[in-house]
Amino acid sequence: TEPILEIKGLRTVFRVRGREIAAVNGIDLVVHAGETVALVGESGSGKSVTSLSVMRLLARGIGAIDAGEMLFRGKDGNVRDLVSLDEEAMRRIRGNDIGMVFQEPMTSLNPVYSIGDQISESLRVHRGTGRSAALEAAVALLDKVGIPDARRRAGQYPHELSGGMRQRATIAMALACDPTLLIADEPTTALDVTIQAQILDLLQGLQRERGMGVLFVTHNLGVVAEIADRVAVMYAGRIVECGPVAEVFRNPRHPYTLGLLNSMPRLGAASAMKRAGEKLNAIPGMVPSLADMPAGCAFAPRCGFAIEACRQNIPALESVAAGHGSRCIRWQEIAR
Ligand code: ATP
Ligand code: MG
Repeated sequence: TEPILEIKGLRTVFRVRGREIAAVNGIDLVVHAGETVALVGESGSGKSVTSLSVMRLLARGIGAIDAGEMLFRGKDGNVRDLVSLDEEAMRRIRGNDIGMVFQEPMTSLNPVYSIGDQISESLRVHRGTGRSAALEAAVALLDKVGIPDARRRAGQYPHELSGGMRQRATIAMALACDPTLLIADEPTTALDVTIQAQILDLLQGLQRERGMGVLFVTHNLGVVAEIADRVAVMYAGRIVECGPVAEVFRNPRHPYTLGLLNSMPRLGAASAMKRAGEKLNAIPGMVPSLADMPAGCAFAPRCGFAIEACRQNIPALESVAAGHGSRCIRWQEIAR
């Protein structure tokens, strides 16, 4: 299948106390139609900055994309570089060609408008749908995402819905215009486990039905195993390992991925992951400060495999197997 999103060499920087820090430091990432790509890593690794960069929602004057390309194929079939697109063109793409769901539903919902109005707004703006037709479509969407009594709910305000219902409503809103790409940044993290599973099922079903590409941000490897086709593991602004989920889980070739897998407390259904429960160790040490990065591999200070060469040069992404890459010079010695 064709790529919908092709990120090449993306670098996103923040200005912090007069210094520039690279929260995303030259990442390459592809999302194809119909696939789910998970972006995983510890807190502060740059996952949200990546998704905000794709949406071009970085706080102006604070964060900025400073290198790279983000080639995006829109619904019209044209490929555009989102990095150089002007703000007006970007507004036409946001919510229309690209849908977004965030961790906290209230970041996407406006407390003073009814749920139905907010969902229909997107159709009115992007498609010029008339008021009553848009409201009917909103009710159908709420029904589609599993909200019972959708017509009554459409007239309610966000505070009248439970957390799980609110997240369903933001999914309805994200999907209103039939996007080709959905960016979901920790969409279930704020919800309790049962609701979490329901929302993941919902997203998976909708994706299959619509053939969307999904970029799914999470720190939960169990969730990755459950829903993703491919995974990219981020550490301190770089992708250190990427590949098909089953392959990476069975045969991790970066010490950081290995550490994440070994620190998983409990495992999902995927048999490839069962063995991870045998050892239960958190990765010792801390993520380095972006303002004070070590020379060479950023993971070296925490890495049991590190040798002198690791502290000298930043390792390039090496091909381990078809579609599987690792930024570790000792990848051949890493094994579960
Ligand atoms: P989490 O799992 O906690 O959501 P994350 O991987 O999404 O973590 P990001 O939100 O992408 O992490 O942040 C990566 C780094 O970028 C942060 O550690 C911080 O140094 C920097 N950063 C992010 N937002 C800003 C900002 N508004 N101003 C300055 N620095 C920022
Ligand atoms: Mg985040």
